[in-house]
Amino acid sequence: MAQTIAQIITAETSLICEAGTGTGKTLAYLVPAVLSKRKVVLSTGTRALQDQLFRHDLPLVLAALNSAARVALLKGRSNYLCQYRLERALGRAARLNRDLRADLSRVRDWAQVTTSGDIAECQIAENASVWPLVTSTLDNCLAQDCPRLNRCHPQAARRQAQEADIVIVNHHLLCANFALQLNQVGAVIPEPQCWIIDEAHQLPEIAMQFFGLALSTKQVLDLTDDLVTAADSEHDLIGSAPGLSAAVTALTTAAHTLHQAFANVTGRVAWQDLDDPEPILRVLAQLGEALTAVADSLTAVAGQNKEWDRGRERCADLLKRLARLAAPPSEADADWVRWVDVQNWGMRLHLTPLDVAPIFAALREQAPATWILTSATMTVGGSFDHFARQMGWGAEVRTASWDSPFDYPRQALWFLPPDMPDPSTAQYTQRVAVIARELITIAQGRTFLLFTSHRALREVAAQFDTPSFGYPLLIQGSAPRAALLDRFRSLGNAVLLGSTSFWEGVDVRGEALSCVIIDKLPFAMPDDPILRAKIAALQRQGLNPFLEYQLPHAVIALKQGAGRLIRDDTDRGLFVVCDPRLLTRRYGTAFFNSLPPMTRTQELAAVRAFMQPPETLTPAVKPIKRRRARTIKKTEDN
Ligand code: SF4
Repeated sequence: MAQTIAQIITAETSLICEAGTGTGKTLAYLVPAVLSKRKVVLSTGTRALQDQLFRHDLPLVLAALNSAARVALLKGRSNYLCQYRLERALGRAARLNRDLRADLSRVRDWAQVTTSGDIAECQIAENASVWPLVTSTLDNCLAQDCPRLNRCHPQAARRQAQEADIVIVNHHLLCANFALQLNQVGAVIPEPQCWIIDEAHQLPEIAMQFFGLALSTKQVLDLTDDLVTAADSEHDLIGSAPGLSAAVTALTTAAHTLHQAFANVTGRVAWQDLDDPEPILRVLAQLGEALTAVADSLTAVAGQNKEWDRGRERCADLLKRLARLAAPPSEADADWVRWVDVQNWGMRLHLTPLDVAPIFAALREQAPATWILTSATMTVGGSFDHFARQMGWGAEVRTASWDSPFDYPRQALWFLPPDMPDPSTAQYTQRVAVIARELITIAQGRTFLLFTSHRALREVAAQFDTPSFGYPLLIQGSAPRAALLDRFRSLGNAVLLGSTSFWEGVDVRGEALSCVIIDKLPFAMPDDPILRAKIAALQRQGLNPFLEYQLPHAVIALKQGAGRLIRDDTDRGLFVVCDPRLLTRRYGTAFFNSLPPMTRTQELAAVRAFMQPPETLTPAVKPIKRRRARTIKKTEDN
């Protein structure tokens, strides 16, 4: 893999490649990246993986190669302390509650010693309420007008990235950067000669979020908060902006009214499915009027206060978004979906592109470079077509794959519980709970039970969360994800119930995780507005949405879920998919052909034998005979 990537970088072409778990994928791209002596931007899925590359993997490679390559870590601006907002928050500390004041003092102390300003270095939880007070957003940053520009951490991080040979970013920043590039607003990531994108299977979905347009009530309320804060700190200016206070109050009311207009809606809903959009359009028009009134009041005091001047630009930006989001549907919107997300905190209006392939193709044309996209889960039935199509690549791009070196037939047993009802039946989740309970006992805890829906997770959690359960039970949402994983590793016999966020990017090696149970095949929710619009768009093109989109997505998701089990060559484990459709539907073979070649069985006795501690195994069950166990009894019978 390293040799192939080195050739691709030298030839200045591009590569899409899959490397199974345990291949050493990270080293295989880091070594040629360092040796190439070119400017390389590396992107990975999460900030945690970014930190791992920056603090561990890359230093190892640089030392081994005796390289003096300059490396920079670049995150989104909300990951850095904003000196200006910290000062402003300290000035208003008396108005904060005691906990916030305590956290603010800790941030102030840390601000004296940090050189990077990366909030991950500060010993305060990353979801603490203090962070929005002392970090900036694209909306509220004063940029060139900032009085603290010379001590600005986000700016310093960007400068370092400009000067570095290798820059490590994450996909969210990468896609935000591409969106800026497309809008010709000015990119934050320096243009490299080579992009290396790990966990690349996530890129198309993340890109959809960033290449679209959105407007939230929170954005509006953040603006009014910032305007009020600026006014409070500049009492003498209030007199010179008499209409501003009333206009800001009216805008705050308009934002709350907009949220209330969706009182009968929860979650993600397509605009076209709203019962009666007319009243909502009227509320949006009122929001537009309120924004215009604030902008006019701010124009009257232009040049007197930098935050007010920035506020005027923010009003203009919000008005532009509003005009597009509230406009009647047009032909230009055919490949976009308009939808709303309504939550307790407020609501967000979205316009999302259904196909990011042309956008990526345009980006590649705009700034030609080598692209290396890699992941452990890209192919479906050995083909890269699904991924390449989403990224706008045709047959011209080179593809390659390297299988995992693990001995899956020996190390993993894939159990398909017999006689499970169809997942659409009312008793399905109950049956999952029963079989999961039995398997957890066999595995002596040490299990991830992964769900495709929060509803099923809650239902099973309510049943298991009793004193008689017998094993430590960790439930998603009861603590931060990282804390749950730390506890899972240290307990050694815990059972973790999780949904989507535990399907990917979780690495638990050794016996603590010996069983992964999946409740259902991970098909996306059919009522999701983006999925429905995507299906309709594919139908319009005369394509089969299930085969072209839904099935490949589910296969990749199941590959990710299965990937949690065997993390090194000494791991052994049981993989369970409760969903009977794997055997009863023809598409089941797409999953079997795409996942690692685990031994498969429907016999509970084989599971018991496999899960016995190695020292107690009798010659009769050690090992399970490969040929017999790899067949699926039921399928053979059919
Ligand atoms: S330039 Fe922006 S991020 Fe930097 S200190 Fe000023 S407001 Fe904060």
